[in-house]
Amino acid sequence: MSASISEALYELCGFARAVCEADLVIALEVDAGFQANSVAVSPVMPLPPFNLRHSRLFDRAWSPVPAAASCFRLPTALIHALPELPAHILFVPARLDHAPNSGLLLLWTSAVSPPSLVRHVPLLAGSVASALTQRRQAARQTLIRDQFNDLLESVPAGIVVFDGDGHGAMVNERAAQLLGIRAGSHQASSLVFPMRKLRERCSNRDALAEMYSTRMRDVDYALTTHWVLGDRTYEVDTHPVRGDGEQGRIWLFTDVTAELRMAEKLRRLADTDPLTSVPNRRHLENEVHRILEAPGSRDRLFSALMIDVDHFKAINDTYGHSVGDEVLRQVAVRCRNALRDRDLFARFGGEEFVAILATPRSDELAAIAERMRESIASARFASGGLSIPVTVSVGIASGKRGEAPPKRFLAELVAQADEALYSAKRSGRNCVVVYGAPE
Ligand code: GH3
Ligand code: MG
Ligand code: MG
Repeated sequence: MSASISEALYELCGFARAVCEADLVIALEVDAGFQANSVAVSPVMPLPPFNLRHSRLFDRAWSPVPAAASCFRLPTALIHALPELPAHILFVPARLDHAPNSGLLLLWTSAVSPPSLVRHVPLLAGSVASALTQRRQAARQTLIRDQFNDLLESVPAGIVVFDGDGHGAMVNERAAQLLGIRAGSHQASSLVFPMRKLRERCSNRDALAEMYSTRMRDVDYALTTHWVLGDRTYEVDTHPVRGDGEQGRIWLFTDVTAELRMAEKLRRLADTDPLTSVPNRRHLENEVHRILEAPGSRDRLFSALMIDVDHFKAINDTYGHSVGDEVLRQVAVRCRNALRDRDLFARFGGEEFVAILATPRSDELAAIAERMRESIASARFASGGLSIPVTVSVGIASGKRGEAPPKRFLAELVAQADEALYSAKRSGRNCVVVYGAPE
């Protein structure tokens, strides 16, 4: 509550005491149930809240002339406030909504001079009512501000609100921590530097600077971006807000690191084969389509390698399915190791794998496929003390997309590599066959 309103009430009580020559003056807020709260007392003293239900103060029509204290039944709190018993009492009403019995209570321990009082009382009544009203409004504003602050702090986001007048701003605790300043009210201009400093600490500051620079000239601009600060990512939303007919602006900083990580994890799970941890066919196809849609892809040479484990059914039948699984994991590792980093590789299904190579030289292509076949054929696959010989057959096809749509081109390339693979199977397995080469 505003200190100046409390001071004004104390001064008013002091003034009333002086001009009315009273011994005690109390500004009282009294509710409909006669519960009285002394909001200012002159001379200054602590007065606990008390009840005026049986006081008879409110029974009679109001008169500006003090009455004998013996006509009233005053609470002990009031009687004890004076060194002698009160002799006269005057209650000056100052009615308030929801506190209809409020007013100024004047007490004398000795004789009173009524004429001077009569002149002052109407003025006093009006002043007390307006001071009590202001006090209530200030209390209400404090309550609203506290509720607003509670709300600001309860939202799981950093919040900065700029007032429409361009001068004031509010920063909640989370935003204050991010900006390295204290929470609460600030001069709008004093936030410009910390806000800019925070943005410049982001690893994507250049992209952000570009995004904001074009928009910020528009007072109505609304923008949601991601600010990457170290290992955390904040979704930063800003938009105009209206209040009191003026346009302010709100900035919301929400830590979305966990959500992004979860989304990334889900995306990885959706793209990965759970047994071998290499990409799955869906992911490979999406990646290849993306590459094939890029400008300049029409004239680039692409090659597909289809890799199939020889007599894998027999491995399952002989050693069991879980040993078969382990063999598939090790085959995947050896295939991947034989490829270049930029080549795409995936489990195509069952015991088949596929690799897509962009712009390989033909000697390089044959060398990669042969290295892959050889690294598997020359190894012994260990699983639970077993040493299992494994071989693979590889079919290769190459081509340029030309005018064909990416999807059809890839399907045809894979079909040709598959055909070459079956030629390799027919040729006795554990070998590499290029599509179109004579058997
Ligand atoms: P080929 O040399 O002609 O390729 O003979 P193959 O036995 O490898 O081929 P076939 O298609 O007859 O058998 C493939 C087997 O792979 C059948 C299937 O049960 C097995 N298989 C498919 N997926 C998995 C898997 O995830 N784990 C295991 N252990 N076996 C699998
Ligand atoms: Mg097979
Ligand atoms: Mg197969």
